[in-house]
Amino acid sequence: MSGENTRRLALVTGGGRGIGRAIAREFGKRGFDVAVNYNSSAAAAEELCAEISQAGPGVSARAFKADVSKPEEVKALFKSIEDTMGTVRVLVNNAGITRDNLLMRMKEEEWGAVMAANLNSAFYCTKEAIRGMVKARWGRIVFISSVVGLIGNAGQANYCAAKAGLIGFARSVAREYASKGVTSNVVAPGFIETDMTSVLSENVRSAMMQQIPAGRFGCPEDIARAVCFLASDESDYLTGQVLAIDGGMTMC
Ligand code: NAD
Repeated sequence: MSGENTRRLALVTGGGRGIGRAIAREFGKRGFDVAVNYNSSAAAAEELCAEISQAGPGVSARAFKADVSKPEEVKALFKSIEDTMGTVRVLVNNAGITRDNLLMRMKEEEWGAVMAANLNSAFYCTKEAIRGMVKARWGRIVFISSVVGLIGNAGQANYCAAKAGLIGFARSVAREYASKGVTSNVVAPGFIETDMTSVLSENVRSAMMQQIPAGRFGCPEDIARAVCFLASDESDYLTGQVLAIDGGMTMC
C-alpha cells in the first residue's frame, strides 16, 4: 500500500460487479476510501463495501445508488458522497452497457441508451468531480473505454461510437486540466471475462481467442491493476493516454 494513497477517495461508477467491482476492491487494498456507485443490485454493492472496509486498516467504503446516465442523479450522487465521505479525488468512469445490433436494424433507443450510459454519464460525472480536483490541485480521472472504440466492431456501432467518444473527451479534459495537477487517461480493455461477455456464443469467443496473442481472455483484475496505477502518484506525468489492456489484440 502506498502511503500517499491513504485517505484519498475514489469513486467507481457501475462498481457493483464485473470490472468495476475488481477496481473498487483493488483501491481498497491500496488504502483508498472507495465510493461504489451501483444502479441495480444494492445487496452486491453493500457486500462489496463490507469486504473492502474489513480488508484495509482504516479504509472506508460505501455504496451509492444512482443511474449515472441521468444528470440530476449524478448531482445527487456527488452531494451524498461529499456529505458522507468527502471530496472525490479519483473518478473511474466505468459504468457501461451494450445494445448490439447491425446498423440497418439499430433503433434510435438502442443508440441513445448506449450513448447515455457509456458517454453522457462520463460527462456528467467528470463535470461534477473536476472542481474538487482542481481545488486540491490533484486529481485522477480514468475512463473505461474498449479496444472496439479504437478499431470498431460489426454489430456495435453505438457502443464503438460511445467508447471512441470517451477517448476524445478524456484527451480534451487532459489538455484543460494538466496544469492543475489533474490527469485524465483511458483504459481500453480487450475481451474480459464478466457478465457482459458471458452472453457471447462459443463461436464468437473462439473467433476472439484467435486474435489474442496472449492466448487467454483477460480478467477484471488485469484492468483493476492498470486503473490503480493511473490513479496513483507514480503516473503523475502521464495524461491523455489510451492504455489498451488486451493481451496484444490490437497493438495500435
Ligand atoms: P458489467 O455489465 O458486468 O458491468 C457494468 C456495470 O455498469 C454494472 O454494474 C451496471 O449495473 C453498471 N451500469 C450500467 N449502466 C449504469 C448506469 N446508467 N448507472 C450506473 N451504473 C450503470 O460489465 P463489465 O464487463 O464489468 O464492464 C465494465 C466496463 O468495461 C463497461 O464500461 C464496459 O463497456 C467496459 N468494457 C468491458 C469489456 C469486457 O470484455 N467485459 C471490454 C471492454 C470494455
